[in-house]
Order: sequence, then C-alpha cells, then structure tokens
Amino acid sequence: METTNIINQIGNTPLIKLKQVSELTGCNIYGKAEYFNPGESVKDRAALYIVKEAFEKKKIERGGIIVEGTAGNTGIGLAVVCKEFGLNLKIVIPNTQSIEKKDTLKKLGAELIEVEAVPYSNPKNYIKQSKKIAEELSKKHKFGVVWGNQFDNIVNTKAHIETTANEIWSQTAGKVDGFTCAVGTGGTLAGVSIGLKNKNKDIKIALSDPMGSSLYSYVKHNKLESKGNSITEGIGTGRITKNFEKAIIDDAFQTDDVEALKIIYDLIEKQNIILGGSSGINIAGAVKLAKKLGKGKTIVTILCDDGRRYASKIFNKEFLKSKNLPIPKWL
Ligand code: PMP
Repeated sequence: METTNIINQIGNTPLIKLKQVSELTGCNIYGKAEYFNPGESVKDRAALYIVKEAFEKKKIERGGIIVEGTAGNTGIGLAVVCKEFGLNLKIVIPNTQSIEKKDTLKKLGAELIEVEAVPYSNPKNYIKQSKKIAEELSKKHKFGVVWGNQFDNIVNTKAHIETTANEIWSQTAGKVDGFTCAVGTGGTLAGVSIGLKNKNKDIKIALSDPMGSSLYSYVKHNKLESKGNSITEGIGTGRITKNFEKAIIDDAFQTDDVEALKIIYDLIEKQNIILGGSSGINIAGAVKLAKKLGKGKTIVTILCDDGRRYASKIFNKEFLKSKNLPIPKWL
C-alpha cells in the first residue's frame, strides 16, 4: 500500500483501553481513536466512500464539485478527500458549529456557506439547502456535481461495515461483547452493528443518545420524542435517516452534558486523551452498557474527534458558565 497518499491513512485507527471506566465497571472498555484519521474524525471514512462511489458510478470527474450539508466533521473529511481527487467542495453548515471546525474547513480550501440552525422540517435547514445548491449547480457544471447526502446515502453505512466493524472485530480478537455509539447520520452505528452482528449475532448493540435527541425514545418506546438539549455537536436527531434505519439495536441509553463532560475532563487528567463532547456521550453509554452486561465483558465505543476542535466551547470558562455546565478546576 502506498502510505504517502493521505487517503491511505483513513481507517485502521488504534483501539485504546479507557482505564478509569474499565476499573469502575470491571469490564474492558475500549475507544476506537478516530481522531487519528487525517481529517481527525470518524467522518473521514464516510467521506472517502461517498467520493469513491461518485467516481465509480461516473457521476463526477476531476474538476467536479461535491456539495454537502455538515456539522463540520464530514466537511473536513470531504475536504481532505476532495483535494486528493481533484474536486472542489462546497459546504453548507449551521452557524452554531464551532469556530475551530469552520476555520479548518476554510484552511482546507472548502467554500463555506453558513446558515441558520433550524430543524429538518424547515426548508431552510442546512441539509435541504445543500441539496438545492447541488441541484442548481449540476445544471451547468460539465465535470459533474454530487450532493454527498451523508444522512440518507447508505454508502456511509457500507464504509463502517467494511472498515470500522472489521477493525473492531480483529483488534479485540473477536472478543467484543458490546458496542455503543451516538448517532448523527447513523452511519457508524448502522455499519458497525451490521458488521459485528454478521460475525456474532450475540454482540449487544446500544444507542448512546444525547439530550434533545428523539432516538432514545424511538428505540425504547417507538416514539420520536425529545427532552432537554445538548451542547454536543454532530450527534442527536429528530428523524429516522436511511442509515439509522439499517442499524440493529438492542438497547439505548441517554446521557446529559454534565455527565459527558465529566468523563471528557477525567480522561484529560488521568489518561492525557483530549476528546470532543460526542465521545463523552459515547463513553457514558459504554459505562451503562458495561453495567448492564456485567463484569468481565469487552465493550467498544467510538472516540469520534479531538477536543481541541471545540476549544472555544468545552474548554472555555465563559461558554461553560453561560450554559451552567461544570468548569474543571484546571481551566
Ligand atoms: N461525533 C461527531 C463529533 C460527529 O461529527 C459525528 C457525525 N456528524 C458523529 C459523532 C456521528 O457519526 P455518524 O454520522 O456516523 O452517526
């Protein structure tokens, strides 16, 4: 394999034992360190598959444009991939997302269109706007214009069946008993659940949901209802996407920001691992799954991205104070 090509560095991320939560539960809890990807998040995998499929299906050629609605990480993944494939990138992003993600996108050469953060039901929603922009552009662009459609394009799930799930299986030598993660598009949860259950149908799969998302109530009570809200980015939703639809789920847990942030700050102090908020929701879910499955089990979750991507938020006293969230003593 040619290792100098950045695309070849996507995937095959390390599996790291999370010491504190493992001790606490008497289980082996591992995190798949997705911040080791070139775009520093789990979304590089979906980005690569979306672009590769567009080429394979001859929807685009060098000089073409990818358009996508993203909370940021998919955009960053796409920016890395598009550069390698000679494509241009247009990103529609809700204006609530962190300045660090937006700056990274600009540095990587993406064109950024910031829009108001409104629910999916609103025609001004960032995903719907991205689709419209792609449709308009495709009328006049000769090298092809592709809307990534990460939420409903199931090549996203395929990426995780073929890569993430297989890696978790081999990195745990087939000993994995449970897996949990949160849902943005649902690609990670769907792909890993399908991939792992294909290997061993007894592996338990759980959704880790933040407050403000409707999926916990959907899994537990078959009703899309939400309570509260969350400062975590990239996760939580009020609708069933085509990717989430495919997930094979046994259980669900819900975690608030206080609990998630405590885990994030603890990991920095005790294990020198700096993660974003969605990883806190995931690890909290892994603890709940471990407690349910009992001592001695092997549980895996996703460490979605690096905390420095949210320096102005979860590592910013003023921001935390304004949201009534705990401030770690070293901040
Ligand atoms: N965490 C973060 C920080 C993300 O950006 C995303 C994707 N939006 C996820 C988790 C969820 O991943 P998926 O889209 O595969 O559900």
